Amino acid sequence: MKVLVINSGSSSIKYQLVDPATAEVAASGVVQRIGEEVEPDVVTVEHSCGDRTFEYRGSIADHAAGLHVVFDLFTAAGQDLAHADLGAVGHRVVHGGEVFYQPTVIDDTVVKAIEDLSALAPLHNPPNVIGIESARALLPDVPQVAVFDTAFFHQLPAAAKTYAIDAEVAAAHGIRKYGFHGTSHDYVSGQAAEFLGRERADLNQIVLHLGNGASASAIRAGRAVDTTMGLTPLEGLVMGTRSGDLDPGIIFHLIRTAGMDVDDVDALLNRHSGIKGISGVNDFRELGQLIETGHPTAKLAFDVYIHRLRRYIGAYLIELGRVDAITFTAGVGENDARVRAEALAGLERYGIRVDADRNAERSRVARRISADDSEIAVLVVPTNEELAIARASAELVG
Ligand code: AMP
Repeated sequence: MKVLVINSGSSSIKYQLVDPATAEVAASGVVQRIGEEVEPDVVTVEHSCGDRTFEYRGSIADHAAGLHVVFDLFTAAGQDLAHADLGAVGHRVVHGGEVFYQPTVIDDTVVKAIEDLSALAPLHNPPNVIGIESARALLPDVPQVAVFDTAFFHQLPAAAKTYAIDAEVAAAHGIRKYGFHGTSHDYVSGQAAEFLGRERADLNQIVLHLGNGASASAIRAGRAVDTTMGLTPLEGLVMGTRSGDLDPGIIFHLIRTAGMDVDDVDALLNRHSGIKGISGVNDFRELGQLIETGHPTAKLAFDVYIHRLRRYIGAYLIELGRVDAITFTAGVGENDARVRAEALAGLERYGIRVDADRNAERSRVARRISADDSEIAVLVVPTNEELAIARASAELVG
């Protein structure tokens, strides 16, 4: 049985056809620039299937049109989805609010509820809903499953999830820490336990998901007890283009004195801040190159990023009391040895000793980068949210 995993963003759809039992990826691809008028020769869909790639050029009017093209490319590649032994379509849904905390089979009521949660995730839930509706229309006989980014953090302790604001206002507007990247934190902490040959229930872990978006989590005996992202995916670590934590007073100040409205501030903090805001680039490969050339603010951006990351590592060491493993994952965490080295430098007295040679090695598999005498195991574990969504979907539909 295979699962088609769909991650539908505002102007893109990423997808993967994967066998949840073997993790084998039969095909994957991305639809980009949805809703944009592009020249007829611009590639907007790239579809890979084994070592073959198929492309579609030209404008993609909307998500439904994008999925139509994807289905045609599956057929062109000899993998007609109608005959692909498709057991489910698994959708990544960013915000499950208080309502959804486990993978859920999608029906009209579920779609409506996900739509209703859009106020909490205006950038994410609406495109998720469009992706779901398009896939349901195109594959009406295949069960569709929603897997929520917030689910792993549903049971955060009250002290961790409660914002210290007027309780009635908070309750009336669903204001609490929800956390995001949950599928990744859950999957990676499971993989880390497997790598260490230990039960997840016996381990306390810190997971550092450092991609373009970034979040950290503290996990006690398999259950998340804290995480850096909050009501929205804006809180916490410094990210590619997002500010992470800041003084909320900055927002009032900008609105009162800089002539910005709410949408301006939203765009500033979500799209023009973080590493990009300070240095002009959001990709760590480019940032590394700029640092080498002595760029005036690239090193500062790196230092601010590391400073925030270390602050949370320290907080979670204290919160958990005993930590067995610290695991790096996602684009930056899996690939940037310097980030890993600096995040954990000088923490020997806390039982953390990174081995420089192990850290410098490049690999695509789970590995240990701590020295043999490091009390806390430091690992790099590639995340695989698609596989986790496929497995959750397959399990649910049986
Ligand atoms: P993700 O959101 O997990 O796909 O991570 C994307 C980010 O990972 C990119 O924006 C880069 O900053 C970073 N990244 C990817 N590859 C590398 C690499 N080889 N070295 C450093 N950073 C990388």
